[in-house]
Amino acid sequence: MTSPSPDSIENVIVVGSGPAGYTAALYTSRANLQPLVIEGFLWGGLLQQTTDVENYPGFPDGIEGPELMQRFRDQAERFGTRFITDQATKVELSDESGGVHKVWVGKDEYRTRTVILAMGAEHKKLEVSGEEELSGRGVSYCATCDAAFFKEKPTMIVGGGDSAMEEAIFLSKFASKVVVVHRREEFRASKIMLERARSIENIEWLTPYKVAEFHAGEKGGLEIARLRNAETDEELEVEIDGAFIAIGHEPQSHLVEGMVELDDEGYVITEGRSTRTRKPGVFAAGDVVDHTYRQAVTAAGSGSQAALDAEWYLRDTPGIPAPEGMPAGDLAEAQWAEPAE
Ligand code: NAP
Repeated sequence: MTSPSPDSIENVIVVGSGPAGYTAALYTSRANLQPLVIEGFLWGGLLQQTTDVENYPGFPDGIEGPELMQRFRDQAERFGTRFITDQATKVELSDESGGVHKVWVGKDEYRTRTVILAMGAEHKKLEVSGEEELSGRGVSYCATCDAAFFKEKPTMIVGGGDSAMEEAIFLSKFASKVVVVHRREEFRASKIMLERARSIENIEWLTPYKVAEFHAGEKGGLEIARLRNAETDEELEVEIDGAFIAIGHEPQSHLVEGMVELDDEGYVITEGRSTRTRKPGVFAAGDVVDHTYRQAVTAAGSGSQAALDAEWYLRDTPGIPAPEGMPAGDLAEAQWAEPAE
């Protein structure tokens, strides 16, 4: 645990610790910026809840999500990243170019020139009985990750948006059948996605139904979803091995609400193709920004972009002293201004 020193100003604080946060830490530590990562208690992000990851490049035999995250973390640590395994509880972001931002972990206050926001997103939960208990034992939030475990098994997708359609289409290639359960007759999904899903033979449809609860079978895995008709209250039981919940995501941006620009759904808005937010020295990467792709590999990519944006900001902003230990010429022609005091 790194304790704050009242006189020191960090170069980079990364808030969050999924692929985006750890990649930002890896890049900034390799640039000698000694980043501090506030990684949360349950570090590692959504991949900690995943079993086999078979679509992360470089691992042809797949890798367990938690092990992949451990490797990300180890790699960042190897180059001098420091970690606080606790939650960031408050931030205060300066409006000044070259200004000092503050991040709190409980009572401890950390000051920093740059902040990389990488708090990720959480899958929205149905919040029905059995959902949490059976998560990882039949209930999943990611068909792209887990579909292969349901080869020739009956499955269910819950949701009516593009994600639900995309998950259903993907899952239909593995499962014996996919029942799409949606709470309304109308679908939010785009026409093209809906039509594509409707054209697939082993996708079945149950509307307007809500999930009332999930039940385990004798072996402890998911066996039954009990549904309730949203109009008539009629109940229905469906036998399934896998249920995929695709009802949207919630970006974890509460910490910076009112400080950086957020869109209607709470995702952090960044400028153009960069990771810059409207606050000078504050960058955002990964699922807290990304509506669309939400892959470990895309999050890692954007973490590297945020690190480079932070590095360039430290280099190019007048009045910011060169970070200690920065070898001359490490950052292209380092144009560091003289220290302010
Ligand atoms: P979304 O469009 O917000 O859809 C969420 C769906 O879940 C809606 O049908 C909603 O029902 C349902 N839902 C929400 N809360 C629920 C609850 N508590 N119980 C039951 N159902 C609930 O989210 P998304 O599908 O994740 O898509 C997010 C964005 O990413 C969209 O802009 C989408 O177009 C985009 N996206 C695009 C693609 C693609 O083009 N390939 C793929 C994936 C996502 P209601 O409709 O009744 O509200």
